Amino acid sequence: MHINLAKSAGFCFGVKRALNIAFQAAATGEKVSMLGDIVHNEEVVKEVKKSGIRKIKSLKPTKNEFLLIRAHGADLNTFNKAIQFGYKIIDATCPMVREIHKIAENMEKKGFKIIVIGDKRHDEVYGIIGKLKKKALVIEELGDINLRIIGKIIKACVVVQSTQNQEKVLKIVSGLKKHIKQLEFFNTICLPTRTKQNEIRNMPLVNNVMIIIGSKKSANTKRLYEISYSLNKRSYWINSKQEIKPGWFKNTHSVGITAGASTPEKTISVIIEHIRKIVAK
Ligand code: SF4
Repeated sequence: MHINLAKSAGFCFGVKRALNIAFQAAATGEKVSMLGDIVHNEEVVKEVKKSGIRKIKSLKPTKNEFLLIRAHGADLNTFNKAIQFGYKIIDATCPMVREIHKIAENMEKKGFKIIVIGDKRHDEVYGIIGKLKKKALVIEELGDINLRIIGKIIKACVVVQSTQNQEKVLKIVSGLKKHIKQLEFFNTICLPTRTKQNEIRNMPLVNNVMIIIGSKKSANTKRLYEISYSLNKRSYWINSKQEIKPGWFKNTHSVGITAGASTPEKTISVIIEHIRKIVAK
């Protein structure tokens, strides 16, 4: 039986970079805090905690404390409040997320209404809209297009949360184009996400079974699973080897494996090893 591991499985460039920055900061022995978890993965969160970085719920006045900004960034209010309270900032915002901020800020200056296609309650989206002077419009689904609001917009700039599903985004953009005369679309889905999505649209068609590895809290892993399941009903979403059922691999010639952007390499290799042992029996 063949095991085919997706080239893009696991940490993306932005998560790797943010983790390196976090561990380097922890190694200095300084007090480092973070608002929330660095990524949606229990193992990684444990490692980060072990390194000495504290997770905090809110900012408070402090001295000699660093605030680590995570890969998906933060809004202007968080930066300003942190500085005001005495934190020194370590900014691990992914350069690809920064690029989205830059586009949105520039286009707003040129008079465009900013529309963000993304999850309304995601920190990356809060970060994008929170850097703008005027209120941006966030669209999550095609059904969110409210003609009473959209119809009044003369010129708009559309940017996209970096991990959105390309197909869904293109449908929303063509829906918007019908109602907004001047629409500038910047497809800001990042390269690692595009690669992952391209692979997940092909792998379930050429493998009997698909294993998608990642935390149940990880939105990008969920998206990978949903695409995979829509193409191959023998798709399974797991976060540890204990969840694997040997029966999944009956009459199977090939297994495709991929993992969300917050899944560590170690989890992937442990699971591959476990599958090898099952099928060798
Ligand atoms: S998913 Fe893309 S934008 Fe987000 S951290 Fe990873 S590389 Fe950066």
